[in-house]
Formats: sequence, C-alpha cells, structure tokens
Amino acid sequence: VRAKCAPFRGRDGSTIGTITVLNDITALKEFDRIRSDFVSMVCHEVRSPMNSMMMQIKVLLDGLAGELTDKQREILGRVSEKMSGLTTMVSELLDLSRLESGLIANEKSAVKMNEILREQVSFHAENGRRKNITIELRQPESLPPVLANQRNMEEVITNLVTNAIKYSPENTTVTVTATVENEYVRLSVQDQGYGIGADDLKRIFDRFYRVNDQNTRTIVGTGLGLAIVKSIVEAHHGSIKVSSTPGSGSTFTVLLPLVSI
Ligand code: ADP
Repeated sequence: VRAKCAPFRGRDGSTIGTITVLNDITALKEFDRIRSDFVSMVCHEVRSPMNSMMMQIKVLLDGLAGELTDKQREILGRVSEKMSGLTTMVSELLDLSRLESGLIANEKSAVKMNEILREQVSFHAENGRRKNITIELRQPESLPPVLANQRNMEEVITNLVTNAIKYSPENTTVTVTATVENEYVRLSVQDQGYGIGADDLKRIFDRFYRVNDQNTRTIVGTGLGLAIVKSIVEAHHGSIKVSSTPGSGSTFTVLLPLVSI
C-alpha cells in the first residue's frame, strides 16, 4: 500500500484533522515482478547463442576458416563490435533484474571502501591517461567498514568513474572523494566534463535513458549503468544524488550507511 497524508486545516489555519489517501499497489508490484522475470528469462535465453556467435566470429577473424579479404575482415570487425555492445547490454539487464528482484546484497561483509577506491582508481588510471585525464583520490587514512556486497560496491565505483572519464573532454581531472559523515560514508565522483542539463538530470537514473546532445551523442553506452548504480545503492539503504552544470562538470554523491539496517 502506498500512503499519502496531508493536514486538514480550519479557517483559522489550525489543524483539525488529516486526509490520508491509500493506494493499493499490489497489481503494480506484480506487474513489475513479471516484467523483471521476463527480462531475466529473455537475457538468459539470448546469452548462450550470443556467446556462440561471438566465438564463431572469432574463428573467422583468426583466419581459422580460411584467409579473409580486408573488406571481409572490416565487416566482421564491425559485427564483432556490435555483438560485444549487445553482450554488455544483456549482462547489465541481467544485473538489473537480479537487483530488482532483491537477489543481491545477500552476501554482505565488512567492506573496506578505502581499498576498493584505491584499486578502482588505479584500475581506471590507464583509461584516464588515454585522454590525459588525471584521477585524484582524496580519502582519510582509514574509513570504518561498510556492511555491503563487495562486488556491488566495486560496480558502483567502476560505473561512476567510467562515466566521469567517458563524458569529459581531454586534459581534465576527475576527483574521487570519501569522507565519513555521521553514520554514513559519503563518496563523491566529480568531473570537469560536459555536464548534464536540468531536464536530462531528472531522467539519467532511468533504464536506457541517454542524453542526446552534441558532445555525447557519439559516445557508446547502454543507458543502464546509472540505473544499476541506483538500484545497488538503494538495496544497501543508501542514496545517490547528482549535481551538474553543463559545460563545467558533474558531481555524483553516494551516501552509504556504515551499518546497513
Ligand atoms: P551509459 O553511459 O551507458 O549511456 P548510464 O546509465 O551510465 O549509461 O548514464 C546515462 C546517461 O547519463 C549517459 O548516457 C550520459 O548521457 C549521462 N551521464 C552519466 N554520467 C555522466 C557524467 N559524469 N557526465 C555527463 N553525463 C553523464
């Protein structure tokens, strides 16, 4: 049941009661579950023929079925590129439907965010260097552990840092910061990139939503990364927000409770 409450006031402004509206959302939840199961089933079914196609393309590209002309090699290269985009999308969709059906975060442990941040920042340093983007890490010597799923936490940082690099021009800096705030660890990934306009900002956490502007139109992606990040953060009872100025950059901030409830 979804409930909304509002005070009911008399002429003099004093509260004389409350209005409560209750919505039965059982059918909505059921529809969501069916959608999520369906997506998951389709992805499973599609994954194995796709893997087999990828393998066969590789056999052709490796010349194991005879020499290829340059033109044939070029065409197969393009097919292989598209296939790997599709493979990424299928595995992201599977991740998302697992998250939505609550099948994650059951393997929680005391996760050391310090180490994850260090590892992820050094892992992505090379991607950054290709665009002369420096990734700066600012964090205290030690952080209290977060009760979380290790792989999920790595995914959150990876997605945010990858986006910061992807959607920034050359010769800029990405700053990753961790601090402790009350009962939360606060993580932020700040870039000096293209930024996101106010209308798009409301929708970037939606599945498949991608900004269609001049700077970012040609950048490859599925529009699923931020939906996954948001699902993970919420499954850990945390929150995520974004602030952005087109032309100057964006900051994604994640709050994670130190001890999950
Ligand atoms: P993808 O990157 O695969 O398109 P995401 O869900 O990660 O999917 O991001 C959704 C959209 O939000 C992106 O297509 C991009 O337009 C925008 N976006 C995400 N991160 C940033 C960022 N750091 N700076 C500017 N735009 C961003």
